[in-house]
Formats: sequence, C-alpha cells, structure tokens
Amino acid sequence: MNRSEIIDTAKALGLSPNKKLGQNFLCDAGTIGKILGAVGVTETDSVLEIGPGLGALTEGLLERAGSVTAVEIDAGFVRYLSSRFAGESKLRIIHGDFIRIPPSGVFTRAVSNLPYYCSSEVLFKLAAEYRIPSVYVMLQKEMAERIVADPGTPQYGALSVSLGMYYRARSLFSIRPECFYPRPDVVSLFIELSARDDLRLDGDGLNLFHLLVKSAFWGRRKTLAKALADSPHIDLDRAMVIGILREMGIDEKIRGENMSVAEYTILTARLQEAIRAAN
Ligand code: SAM
Repeated sequence: MNRSEIIDTAKALGLSPNKKLGQNFLCDAGTIGKILGAVGVTETDSVLEIGPGLGALTEGLLERAGSVTAVEIDAGFVRYLSSRFAGESKLRIIHGDFIRIPPSGVFTRAVSNLPYYCSSEVLFKLAAEYRIPSVYVMLQKEMAERIVADPGTPQYGALSVSLGMYYRARSLFSIRPECFYPRPDVVSLFIELSARDDLRLDGDGLNLFHLLVKSAFWGRRKTLAKALADSPHIDLDRAMVIGILREMGIDEKIRGENMSVAEYTILTARLQEAIRAAN
C-alpha cells in the first residue's frame, strides 16, 4: 500500500496510527521489495512476524514462505488482517502482546518492522524464548548501530555485548523516514541477526554474564577490573578478576569497551568456577 491507500484504509477501519504502539507503516513498494529480497524466505521457512500492522510485509512473506505466524497487539489491525487474508491457510494471526505472550512454535526466520518503543524487549524475548537461526529487524538507526558495533568503537556497549551473546549482527541497509506513514523523526536501519551456537553458558552463567556486562559498562571510563570490583550490581573481588584476565592473556588494565563478546563469555565461565571453588 502507498501512503494514500494506508490513509484511506485506516479511515475506512476507523483507526488512526497509534504513536504509543510504534505504528509507522511501510508505504514504499521499493523498500518492501528490498526487505523481502534481503530476508530471502523460501517454502521451507516457517516465519514469525512481529507487528504485521496492515500487512505490508505479511503479503510478500506469505507468497514465499511455508507458513507465517503474525503477532499483532492492535485488535483493529487483527480484524483487518483476518478479513484481508481470509482463507489463507498458511497464515496464523495471533492477537496479543508479543512481549507478554510470545507464541509457541518452531520458526526458521523472524521478521519485523519493530515498534521502536519496545525494540530491545522484543529482541531479548526472541533470544530467550526461541532459537531462530535468522532474525531480520528494522530498528531506529542509533540503536541498530549499537547492536552491530565492534569492540573499541564509540557505539560498542552493554547492548552490543548482551545481544552479541545470542546473535552475530550485520547491518543491511538504511531506510529513510519518507518510506513510512506517518513519517518517523528518525532514520531506520534494517539488520540481520544470525543465531550463534559457539558461545554457551548455563542459566546461572547467563545471569552472571548479564550482570558482568551491566557492571563493565556502568564504569565505562574505568578499567574492567575496577568497574567490576566497584559495581553496585555484583560483588566481585578485584584480585580474582585480575588473576583470571591474566590467565586469559588479557592486559589487566583493559577497559570493558575493548573486550569482545567471546572474551566476556570466557571471563564469565572462569569467574563462575572461581566463585564455586571459593564457596
Ligand atoms: N509491519 C507493518 C509495516 O511494516 O508496515 C507495521 C509496523 S509498525 C512499525 C509496528 C507494528 O507492531 C504495529 O502494527 C503495532 O500495532 C505492532 N505492535 C506494537 N507493539 C506490539 C507488541 N508488543 N506485540 C505485537 N505487536 C505490536
């Protein structure tokens, strides 16, 4: 749908875009085609779409995928989609809040023009609840840049590391505000997240990992050992951290922003062992 078709459809449905629910609809056919091309869905794919809205991406996904499960919070759009795609056996439409009730199922791809107010919650929910090999999402550019950032760059932070534990992230292309109705104030970036299975931590290890990352970036201008020892989030002995860093062949003066995701994972596992041994 182009801009005027979206306006007419919303009017006919008695709906108007709800800013609080991040309703900015794709209205540029070229961009929709580019997204579908990048996602590269085939008949063997079972796709999870979060926030289908008026179905800008859903239609093309249905043409290509084996099945599509679309979760939409807005009852008005659920009614519209149910009637627009009536009789479409490959589509399962779920009315609900994806963050509160993520649907069950095994999916090979997730695709979303994410509502920006809850982007990071959706991404962490996807990471925690599923093992989806490829996730494609549209995000506010600044947030996307933090997710794809490499160690040592200004954008690299807690978000890059904590999400980096689950996915390798790659920036695909940017999308101008004019490609949406209503026009958002920000530029968007479409990114690909590929599930990684090289980094493994158990439940307690994962909790420790997230606390370490939070602490490391809380003390951004400090050395990692000092940031962890001074952190209000965790109780760690500085000498223990320095000892493990040395064993790992890492300079004890390293700052959190220069540690890779893999290094954080190893540090977590070794700290877990040291804490267990000390108790
Ligand atoms: N996919 C459509 C498109 O690209 O035109 C709509 C994208 S719009 C940015 C985000 C959509 O997510 C809206 O339809 C909104 O109602 C829906 N949404 C917002 N919060 C949600 C949530 N917690 N769970 C499911 N859907 C949500």
